[in-house]
Amino acid sequence: MSSNFPLSHDELVKLTEKYPTPVYLYDEQAIRENIRYFKKAFSIFPKFREFFAVKACPNPYILKVLADEGCGADCSSLPELMLSKLAGIAGEMVMFTSNETPAEEYQYAAREGNIINLDDVTHIDFLKKALGKLPETICFRYNPGPLKKGGNAIIGKPEEAKYGCTHDQLIEAYARCKAEGVKHFGLHTMVASNELNPDFFVDTARLVFDLVLEVQEKCGVNIEFVDLGGGVGIPYREDQKKVDLDYVAQKIRALYDEKIVPAGLDPLLISFECGRPITGPYGWLITKAIHEKHIYREYIGTDSCMADLMRPGMYGAYHELTVSGKENAPRDHVYDVVGSLCENCDKFAVQRPLPKIDIGDLLIIHDAGAHGRAMGFNYNGKLRAGELLLRPDNSVVQIRRRETIDDLFATLDLNGVESFK
Ligand SMILES: *Cc1c(COP(=O)(O)O)cnc(C)c1O
Repeated sequence: MSSNFPLSHDELVKLTEKYPTPVYLYDEQAIRENIRYFKKAFSIFPKFREFFAVKACPNPYILKVLADEGCGADCSSLPELMLSKLAGIAGEMVMFTSNETPAEEYQYAAREGNIINLDDVTHIDFLKKALGKLPETICFRYNPGPLKKGGNAIIGKPEEAKYGCTHDQLIEAYARCKAEGVKHFGLHTMVASNELNPDFFVDTARLVFDLVLEVQEKCGVNIEFVDLGGGVGIPYREDQKKVDLDYVAQKIRALYDEKIVPAGLDPLLISFECGRPITGPYGWLITKAIHEKHIYREYIGTDSCMADLMRPGMYGAYHELTVSGKENAPRDHVYDVVGSLCENCDKFAVQRPLPKIDIGDLLIIHDAGAHGRAMGFNYNGKLRAGELLLRPDNSVVQIRRRETIDDLFATLDLNGVESFK
C-alpha cells in the first residue's frame, strides 16, 4: 500500500525537522473514511457494532476519533479499559475480552458497566467471588477446536490455542448462568489473525449462529449479541487483496436470515472487534537511513529498530517500504534495511529491491498503524518512538512524545544505594 501516504516529500522533510525520526504518523481523515466504509458494509444488519481492539493502537486520540465515528472498544487489560474511558467510550460500548484476568480488573469493568467476556467456565466462580454476584450480562468466548478447519498462521489451530471454552462447556455454562439469574447473554469467538480469505469469516459466523441456536434449544437462553472477533487481515503485500467487507456482510446476512430470524432471535446484535483493518493501513513508521555497509549483503542502517515495530522481526512479517522522494525511481538495488538492536532478526526489509538509498533519506514503513507502536518494547535500552496525528485540516499534532532516558530509568530504585545518588 505505497500509494496512500498523505504527505509530499517536502512536507515530510519539514515535519521531521520539527519531530525527529523515528516517529509514527497516522492519518485521521483516512481512518474516519475507512471506519465509515466498514460500518456501512454491516449496516444491512438491524444492529451492528465495531468494538475497536484497543491493543492495536492504544492512543486515546485515535480512540476518540473512532468513538466519534460510533465505535466501541475491545479491551484486554485494566489500562486499556481506562484508556477507553478517557476517550469517552463507556458502559456496554466496552467489551472486556481478557485472559488470565486479575479480580481487580473484573471489578473495574463491572463498576463501569462494561461487557465481561469470560475466557473459561471456571471464571464464572472466579467472577462471582470477585464481584459478590454475577453481572446481569455475560459473554463467553467460544473455541470451536477441530470444528474450525484450517487454522491460521498467527493464532494457529483452534484446538491448540489457549483461548475460549469448548462446545460442551458452553452449553453447561449458559444453563448455569441462567439458573443463577444472569439476564443477558453474548457469544464471542476469534479464531483468526490477519486473515484475508473473506469466506473464513462467513464460516465462523455459521459456526457461531449454529451454536446460538443450540444454546436456545438446550438451555432456553436467547443470546442477544454475537461478537465475531477480530482477525480481518490487510494487504501488507502489493499483490494481496483487501477483504471485501460488503461480501462478508452479505454472506453473513444470508445466514442470519436462514438461521437467526426463524428462531425468533432477530434483532441479534452482530459485532466485530477489529483493530488491524481499521488503523493498520493509515499509520506509518518514519525512520532515517543513517548508515550503509557493504559486506556479503548490502545493508542500510536506520535510526529505528524492532523496538518500534516488532512485526518483521517477530513474525517475519512483510511491510512495504518506500524511500521518500524516490517513489518513482527504479528499484535497482537490493538491501536489507535493518535496525539497531543486537538481534539479527531486527530487519525491516530483507533482500528488498529498492531505489538507491543515500544517508539521510527518509524511509516510510507502511501499514504500521496497528500492532506497530503498540508492540514496542525497551530491550537494549531502546527508547520508543512518539506518535503524530495528521488532522483533516492538515495540521499535525503530537499525540505521544518520544520516550526519554528518564522514562526508561523511572522504574529503577536507585535511592537505596549511596553511590547511585
Ligand atoms: C488481537 C485481538 C483483536 C484484534 O485483532 P486485529 O487483528 O487487530 O483485528 C480482537 N479481539 C481479540 C480477542 C484479540 O485478541
